[in-house]
Amino acid sequence: MVRAATATPRLIAAAAREVARADRLGTVVAAVYQILGAVAALGVVAAGKLVFDALLEPEQAAVGLTPALLALAFMTALTGSINPLQTQQHRLLGERVSQRVWDRVLDTTARADLVTYESTGFATALERVQQNALTRPFMVTASLLGLTGGLLGVATMSAVLIGVEPLLVPILLAAGIPAVLLSRWASRTEFAFAHRLTALFRRRQYLRQLLTQRPYAAELRAFGSTGPLRDRHGTLNSQVTTALRGQVRRRQLIAALTTVGVALALTAALLAIVELVRRGRIGLPEAGAAAIAVRLLSGQLNTMFTSIGGLLESAPFLADLERFVASGPPAAPGGRKRQLTERLVLHDVSFRYPEQERPAVDAVDIEIGAGEVVALVGENGSGKTTLAKIVAGLYDPQSGSRRWDGAVAAAPDVRASVTVIFQDFVRYQLTLRDNIAISDASRQPTDEAVLDVARRAGVLGAVDDLRDGVDTMLGRDLDEGADLSGGQWQRVALARALYRDTALVVLDEPAAALDPRAEHELFADVRALLNGRSALLISHRFSNTRLADRIYVMDAGRVVECGTHDELMARAGHYAELYTLQSAAYR
Ligand code: ADP
Repeated sequence: MVRAATATPRLIAAAAREVARADRLGTVVAAVYQILGAVAALGVVAAGKLVFDALLEPEQAAVGLTPALLALAFMTALTGSINPLQTQQHRLLGERVSQRVWDRVLDTTARADLVTYESTGFATALERVQQNALTRPFMVTASLLGLTGGLLGVATMSAVLIGVEPLLVPILLAAGIPAVLLSRWASRTEFAFAHRLTALFRRRQYLRQLLTQRPYAAELRAFGSTGPLRDRHGTLNSQVTTALRGQVRRRQLIAALTTVGVALALTAALLAIVELVRRGRIGLPEAGAAAIAVRLLSGQLNTMFTSIGGLLESAPFLADLERFVASGPPAAPGGRKRQLTERLVLHDVSFRYPEQERPAVDAVDIEIGAGEVVALVGENGSGKTTLAKIVAGLYDPQSGSRRWDGAVAAAPDVRASVTVIFQDFVRYQLTLRDNIAISDASRQPTDEAVLDVARRAGVLGAVDDLRDGVDTMLGRDLDEGADLSGGQWQRVALARALYRDTALVVLDEPAAALDPRAEHELFADVRALLNGRSALLISHRFSNTRLADRIYVMDAGRVVECGTHDELMARAGHYAELYTLQSAAYR
């Protein structure tokens, strides 16, 4: 409780800072509305007193009944009209806070290197933060504004009541103690509930994606698996409902207890007023004004405690956000793009994924000379893609060294100097121009530059068919864009690789979606396509890489053979065996 008591003001201050940083002007405007609200409430009490004076003690009244009633009506209307203004201002401010929260989440994810990003801890924390980032900022904003308004209201009404009878204030404030305790309880149950349900939500979200997104539609229908997946989704829904039902009951109980507490305090205060009148300590007009003030004060107290509750409920999520942002690695410095004048050498390089027993890449030595085309072949799972990620600076070797022209190369510099296209490359639902030029933001994506690489990668035939040329939207996920075939998408990815003019290009299965003729042409012409760049070509089809200057054969994370096609065939080892096997299948 002591910890809670000290932690609460700190959390509230942190929430206030977050809101103010999101939108300074908006926060000021919202605060002004809150002050106006408190002043208007004070006006209602004062006008009420005038009305009671005019009714009960007309001879001593400062104003007549009609102007007093008019003043009361005006003040009541003013109070009423501030409310919708506040609601709309909350909407705007809530959106701005939400934007700021998202900016921080996106900054952290954008900064995270691939290793961090792929760790399960990061993924789970990101999921939780993302889910709460949608609703919590609004709650924090509304609660904070409610708290400010509530505090002002409580202060003004308490001042009025102290003038009438100081004892009324502690009676009402006492109602707040159980309310705050109940809020903390609510907060704890809510956080535990969200923690428990994250995994469930993730699985449900994944099923929703499978069942609604276009890339999965054909296969799901071909297998008739929409029904069974719907059933799984239904099971998850039931689990969520059961958990939510329990949580809702807890929250209803807490809300009921809070309301009862406030109502009891209100009754006690009204009884006290009646008692004061009976003993002749206050006159009837004062009693009337006090009754209005008590009613308003209990409303303000309710707002205040609900707001504290809301803040306490959201605070763990804000803390979660802070932890998530802090967990991200510091921003990596931008890398320096280098030319390759001699060679890139990986020496004795190993890499093991977390929670995997054996290394995916195990004591590997490879080198890629300037202008060379080097091939990496091997069966699925032999470690080719992992090695490609080390070459491209996405992973650092866990042991061994990566040297660029003789000097140990830091990952950011390597990333800036290497282009990589993976076999599961991204099909951006953007224009063709964006799809190509996204690989290099340092250049103006002129028609000429974009069309040049599009032509070289063989996309150009498709461009002629596109309605808006290079500005045609691709993909059907967002707009009615042009849908390309798998092979056309692959050529777009190739154009993207060429557009980014780096000394070394890594192409991971660059022909997986091409037809045999196109595949043959791509590999036969690859030197012309690369135009002097060095390349690491990855393929599990051995015939594709015969023309490489050097071929590394991978098996279970190790390089087991190395040489030209002819040398490897002459050795009659692993390569020769697999090559013969594959070409026999073709014959
Ligand atoms: P290839 O490209 O030759 O098919 P990979 O480099 O993709 O091989 O995979 C090598 C090994 O590492 C495989 O056993 C694979 O299961 C494992 N692996 C690949 N990516 C990950 C990952 N992100 N986390 C854990 N294991 C992985």
